[in-house]
Amino acid sequence: MTQALHHDVAIAGAGIVGASVAWHLAQAGLRVAVIDAVGPAAAASGASDGAVSVASKKPGPLARLASASLLYTRDLAGQGLLAGAFHARPSYVFGQGDAEIAALDALIDKLAQIAGPVRVTGDGGAGALPGLGAAVERLVTLDGEGHMPGHKAVRAYLAAPGITPIWPARIRGLDSDDAGVTIDLGDRRLRAGHLVAALGVSTPALFPALPVQPRAGQLFVTDRGPAGTLPGSLTAAAYLVAKTDAPGVLPLPPVVIDPLTTGQFLIGSSREDHADPTRVDFATMRQLMRRAVDAFPALAERRVIRAFAGIRAAVADSLPIVGPLPGAPRITVATGFEGDGICLSALIGREVARMVQGLAPTDALATDLAALTPARFGAPLQEARA
Ligand SMILES: Cc1cc2nc3c(=O)[nH]c(=O)nc-3n(C[C@H](O)[C@H](O)[C@H](O)COP(=O)(O)OP(=O)(O)OC[C@H]3O[C@@H](n4cnc5c(N)ncnc54)[C@H](O)[C@@H]3O)c2cc1C
Repeated sequence: MTQALHHDVAIAGAGIVGASVAWHLAQAGLRVAVIDAVGPAAAASGASDGAVSVASKKPGPLARLASASLLYTRDLAGQGLLAGAFHARPSYVFGQGDAEIAALDALIDKLAQIAGPVRVTGDGGAGALPGLGAAVERLVTLDGEGHMPGHKAVRAYLAAPGITPIWPARIRGLDSDDAGVTIDLGDRRLRAGHLVAALGVSTPALFPALPVQPRAGQLFVTDRGPAGTLPGSLTAAAYLVAKTDAPGVLPLPPVVIDPLTTGQFLIGSSREDHADPTRVDFATMRQLMRRAVDAFPALAERRVIRAFAGIRAAVADSLPIVGPLPGAPRITVATGFEGDGICLSALIGREVARMVQGLAPTDALATDLAALTPARFGAPLQEARA
């Protein structure tokens, strides 16, 4: 007997990826439910920096997809949806010592190959930007990138009509068949025509065969001061290395200083192999703070008012996992975004919504999206019970 559907599509996870998928499906007229164990932006999306950056992406599919997503995010901001979340600003990447200077050369090469929306507008010394410290030996200035706090984007996406919020409700198990997916919430069961699993680091609890690993990151926020002292993000080249190489090979702390519209600074972020979002330690913070002050000495006058950690969902081959789950025809996964999910969320939301509707990917992206398929880990990858 055919079971009645409560929703056309259920989205598991109200992080920025699930929220973006939900918005795109609702725009297409589908009845969408978003289910979260805690609530919107409860995990990585609410505990991240928020750089919408191509500069920091691994060369290849990830950098090209990030470039397309940056353009699309700018469109969505221009249309009003993400206007209160995304803001454009220059990015400055600095280097000190041979390894970082070489990383800046690689960055310039990568951006030239992509020929996307991010342009190198300057390549000089610390004097290129007022207020920089002597530790900045070389400064590359980029135009075209921006910043988007994850929680603001999640709120914007989920405000769309046609999205039913279901939280707090932890998904305990899934059963899919050719007609749909039954979702076990413990106290009740829901039936949807399709399920999109956007569970971040919690993915293996329901899909143990997907190789998603936790990678923690610590961040801290300063008090408010005069806005505009730093016109854009200031990133150590070590941060680019940290995102493309194994953790532990860095000569210097991978600091990113992001000026917020409130006049505060958001400063991050470490990479640690554990899953505890409550673990914040002085040794790591001190390292990041020292480097931040060396690069931008005016920070010495600011007080840290909050420190926190978030858990990224890392994959061994450093590529997200996006696509239909082999062996479960009505389940699509979108996970493993590590430190790139805020940047990629707009584009991934649009493309996963297309997959769910049986539409072909946007032409120019087809090959790069195919590189993210869960099928690269073998088949079948059946769902399991949490
Ligand atoms: C320190 C740090 C800095 C970062 N900086 C950047 C940056 O500058 N730029 C960038 O692009 N990205 C950055 N990121 C990465 C970015 O935050 C993530 O890639 C992105 O938020 C992932 O979003 P998501 O929707 O996939 O997962 P999440 O935001 O983790 O959402 C998953 C959701 O699933 C829910 N859930 C889990 N299990 C269940 C269940 N069984 N049932 C129901 N719900 C469940 C959770 O409650 C959660 O809300 C950073 C991350 C960290 C930690």
